[in-house]
Amino acid sequence: MPPPLVAGHDYPRTYREFVEMFPDDQACACYFERLRWPKGFVCWACKTTATPWRQTRGRLVCSACRHQASVSAGTIFDKTRTPLTTWFEAAWHVTTAKNGMSAKTLERTLGASYRVAWMMLQRYRVAMVRAERQLLSGDVEVDETLVGGVERGGKRGRGTSKCVVVIAVEVKQPKGFGRVRMRHVPDASGASLLPFVCDAVVPGATILTDGWGGYNDLPEHGYLRKQTVLSSSGNPAHVSMPGVHRVSSLLKRWILGTHQGSVVPVHLQSYLEEFTFRFNRRTSRNRGLVFRRLLEQAAVTGPITEADVTNGYDWRHFSK
Ligand SMILES: [Zn+2]
Repeated sequence: MPPPLVAGHDYPRTYREFVEMFPDDQACACYFERLRWPKGFVCWACKTTATPWRQTRGRLVCSACRHQASVSAGTIFDKTRTPLTTWFEAAWHVTTAKNGMSAKTLERTLGASYRVAWMMLQRYRVAMVRAERQLLSGDVEVDETLVGGVERGGKRGRGTSKCVVVIAVEVKQPKGFGRVRMRHVPDASGASLLPFVCDAVVPGATILTDGWGGYNDLPEHGYLRKQTVLSSSGNPAHVSMPGVHRVSSLLKRWILGTHQGSVVPVHLQSYLEEFTFRFNRRTSRNRGLVFRRLLEQAAVTGPITEADVTNGYDWRHFSK
């Protein structure tokens, strides 16, 4: 049973097409099945590729070994009680709204509870990072910025929570920027910065940095370091690192605007991953493609526990 297509497209281009394509859970399950097994179903248990039997609510039964499971078993939708229609609608809004959506706005838009909206967003953010496996290359600017500074929980005496975020941006010739990657690090030491560069940038690339000693060991990791020493060039920071400066101000505006500045440090990396996913797809010719991409990633990303969602995801899963 192939999933419904609108005018030959396998992704919705408008909200109207979205509504037409996904009227109920069955339609969502069919679509998700095709994204999960683009070359056809493979049994979880016996790996047979014979066409499965289909039951209601997206359940599949292997025709060889009779193993049965939901089409969403083993994905980020695993064991959540939220219907696929709600998951799909959340994915649509998150990928098509110009600046994404906060959990608060999503709650109002979907008529779901805040908890469900927040839980879906957090899980989608993990799926988003899966899409960023291709390493940055060419000329890459790397620099740190400070994010946050609002008082946590509005309580006095807790102090401010400035977080160090290291940003890598591909610089294109003669002008313009390519893709980005970013990481919330405990400090700006070499021990924090170098592993990030190694995870984010292909060896052999040229790394543009300021004179900070934390980047001194880049050549030992196979990178060419091009340094702009601020004191001698006399340039303000934003002139010597235009890419990082631009991305960092967009990031801060997004956190302040879409999320009202309310990002706690333990979840900051999740927001950085969503920003990265959005930024790297800013020139996509249709937002519907980004919607499909997010669901594709959701299908190949394993289950995320309730604790991961609540306490902050352990992003070291994604380090080398
Ligand atoms: Zn089987």
